[in-house]
Amino acid sequence: MTTNIKKNSGKVIQQACEILSNGELLAIPSETVYGLGADATSDSAISRIYKIKKRPHINPLILHVSNIKMVEQFAETNTLFYSLSKYFWPGPLTVILNQKKNNEISKLATSNLSSVAVRLPDNKIFQNIIEKFNNPIAAPSANISGNISPTNPYHVYEDFGEEIKLIIDGGQSEKGVESTVVDIRSQDIIILRHGPITQKMLENKVDCKIKKKGSNKKILSPGQMFKHYSPSKKLIINSIKPTKNCSFLGFSNIMPDKKFDGIALNLSNSGDLNEAASNLFKMLRFLDKTDTQEIVVAPIPNKDVGFAINDKLKRASS
Ligand code: AMP
Ligand code: MG
Repeated sequence: MTTNIKKNSGKVIQQACEILSNGELLAIPSETVYGLGADATSDSAISRIYKIKKRPHINPLILHVSNIKMVEQFAETNTLFYSLSKYFWPGPLTVILNQKKNNEISKLATSNLSSVAVRLPDNKIFQNIIEKFNNPIAAPSANISGNISPTNPYHVYEDFGEEIKLIIDGGQSEKGVESTVVDIRSQDIIILRHGPITQKMLENKVDCKIKKKGSNKKILSPGQMFKHYSPSKKLIINSIKPTKNCSFLGFSNIMPDKKFDGIALNLSNSGDLNEAASNLFKMLRFLDKTDTQEIVVAPIPNKDVGFAINDKLKRASS
C-alpha cells in the first residue's frame, strides 16, 4: 500500500511545511523531475538527504525559491541574474551565484563552496510550499543517487517506499529532465549542464557570451562527473539495430522492423524532442523492468533539448 502518496490539498501543503519544520524530508513534484525536499537552512535535514539518497557529499544541491527577494537574502545577485530570472523564471533554469557572507544556508547543502545554485520552479504545488514555509528548499531528484530520475510519484516510491513520510502526487513531470545549470558569476553565461532551457533560448534573450563547460577550466561543476540516470540493464545507445535479447527505445521513425518480437517504445512518434525528454526516464524505468538483457536506444538528434537527452543517455550507458 502506498500510504505516503497524497494528492495536493491545503491539508497536504500544511503537512509538507510541518515535515520541513521538523527537519524531515518529502517528495515534491516539479516540472523537471520529482525533488526530495528539505529545509536548506537545516544541517540535519540536509544531511538526511545525502544519507537516504547515498549521494556523495561533494555534489552540492540546488536551492528552490518562490521569489527574487529570497535569493537576495543569501546570494550576490547581478544584472545577468535579473535578466535571466525575468525571462526564464519560474522555469527549468538553475543559476550559480556567489553566496553572501554569513547567510543562513547550510554549508552541507552547498558542499562548502562559496557559490550556490538556485532556481524558481514552475510548479504551483512546489511554489506554494516554498512560499508557506518561507525558506529556500534544497531538493535534488527524489531517487537513489545514480538511479533513473523520477518523473511521477510512483517512481519515487520505487526508490524509497515508506522511508519518506510524504510524496505529493502532482502527476507526470512536464519537462522530464533536470534543469539547465548556468554559472553567471562573471559577465558571461557558462552552461554547466544541458537541460530544457537551450543555448538557443538563452542567446535569443540575453546579449552576452555563452560558453560551454570546459572552455574555462577554473569553473567547477561538482557532481557532473558521476555515472547517473542508470538502469540496471546494459544500455546501448546510438543504435538502429536491436540485439538478440533487448528491448528497444526508438525515436521518430527509428523503430525495429516487423521481425522484432521484443518490446519497443517510441520516445516521440512525431520526432518532438520535448516529448522525448518528457518520456525518457519513464520509458527507461519501464524497459528496465522487462525480461531482457539490454536496452537499445535509437540515435537522438543532438540539438535543442536533445543535448540534455544525449548527455543523460551517455552517462547512463557508461
Ligand atoms: P541534482 O540536484 O542532482 O540535479 O544536481 C544538481 C547539480 O547542480 C549538481 O550536480 C552540480 O553540478 C550543480 N551545482 C549545484 N551547486 C553548484 C555550485 N555551487 N556550483 C556549481 N554547480 C553546482
Ligand atoms: Mg539527480
